[in-house]
Amino acid sequence: MMCAAHTGGRTLVIDHAKAPGEKIRISGGGRCNFTNLYAEPANYLSQNPHFCKSAMARYTQWDFIDLIGRHGIAWHEKTLGQLFCDGSARQIVSMLIEELQKAGADLWLNTSLSGLRHADGQFHLELDREGQRVSLACANLVLASGGKSIPKMGATGLAYDIARQFGLRLTETRPALVPFTFSDERFKPMAGVSLPARLSNDRASFDEALLFTHRGLSGPAVLQMSSYWREGEEIRVNLVPDISLFELLRDQRQTSGAKALTTELARHLPSRLVDHLAPELGITGNLADQSDTALRQITDRLSDWSLTPSGTEGYRTAEVTLGGIDTDGLSSKTMEAASFPGLFAIGEAVDVTGWLGGYNFQWAWASGHAAGQAIAQRV
Ligand SMILES: Cc1cc2nc3c(=O)[nH]c(=O)nc-3n(C[C@H](O)[C@H](O)[C@H](O)COP(=O)(O)OP(=O)(O)OC[C@H]3O[C@@H](n4cnc5c(N)ncnc54)[C@H](O)[C@@H]3O)c2cc1C
Repeated sequence: MMCAAHTGGRTLVIDHAKAPGEKIRISGGGRCNFTNLYAEPANYLSQNPHFCKSAMARYTQWDFIDLIGRHGIAWHEKTLGQLFCDGSARQIVSMLIEELQKAGADLWLNTSLSGLRHADGQFHLELDREGQRVSLACANLVLASGGKSIPKMGATGLAYDIARQFGLRLTETRPALVPFTFSDERFKPMAGVSLPARLSNDRASFDEALLFTHRGLSGPAVLQMSSYWREGEEIRVNLVPDISLFELLRDQRQTSGAKALTTELARHLPSRLVDHLAPELGITGNLADQSDTALRQITDRLSDWSLTPSGTEGYRTAEVTLGGIDTDGLSSKTMEAASFPGLFAIGEAVDVTGWLGGYNFQWAWASGHAAGQAIAQRV
């Protein structure tokens, strides 16, 4: 829709869904985290980390903020530069529909593709539109059908299939921004417990909320790390990233030695978590009973807990697909396939994946704008 709003000519958006922009509608708890104040290329994963630079520089978060301002959509920053609608995510969907209609583009819902070939410089599409067969041809075809995340919401691998059909390469695709699962039920007793934590590995580190679930770990810190994690690898969890727990406990030992260690720890960590970890970490007795070595051992474990997830919840709940259409085959200025003029790919279908926090929508807006402008210049 963003692309169609910028093509400046006759453009048709085809979607098999009943309603447009469904991921926008449900995102951000219904308020859509539509961009991030601090969005920059470093917030994106791709085999070519430079690829997103050009499009992102030509359509920034400020451009999108300006656009929603013109539509009177009120917004606020929640945290870490994440911008949400004050009202409803539906306002963003309505705005995009209005923009594409204003540009003279059209939107066909309940429409699926049953055949596609290229001949005589045109793409020939066979469509099933609400049960009716329709054939049409176009000079430019933009693959904007997203990734594989959440098939229940209509995600398919269509963009990848078409890319392959026209000889484009794909990078490996994997679910990302997705909760971790564990083969045992060790976290079940703590389901619902949430706390600020630092999750890290050799490649990345995130300070955000960690949430224990029946199946494993979730929350923003975990979703972020999942994009940097591979099967079999461990992640490190610091449950007390903002305090020097050892020093705090040592000081408390002086003044309140008769206090139970679990009680003192529960001032800094959720008590259900302390109770759960107590047997494993040997947390027992009063503060006065603890030697420096014992305190050090406990606090080291709390600040450097090593975990190896058995997997993730997969595409069923993943917010995005990591990987996709190989950027090597696309122009970073126009999103057009170098080997197949007239074929474009934008958004999540491309091997550009943002962090959690409005970055993925910003990429969708920026890449859609880049392709739209390129098409406008040739219509
Ligand atoms: C639960 C959830 C919450 C999210 N929250 C945020 C957030 O707050 N901020 C953020 O930046 N990102 C968020 N994301 C990620 C963001 O939604 C996507 O990265 C973004 O929507 C990608 O845009 P896109 O246009 O490339 O693809 P999509 O938004 O997925 O749009 C693709 C469209 O193509 C259609 N389509 C798919 N297959 C076919 C087919 N075979 N035939 C016809 N049509 C087809 C679909 O119906 C869909 O309308 C969230 C994702 C999820 C799942």
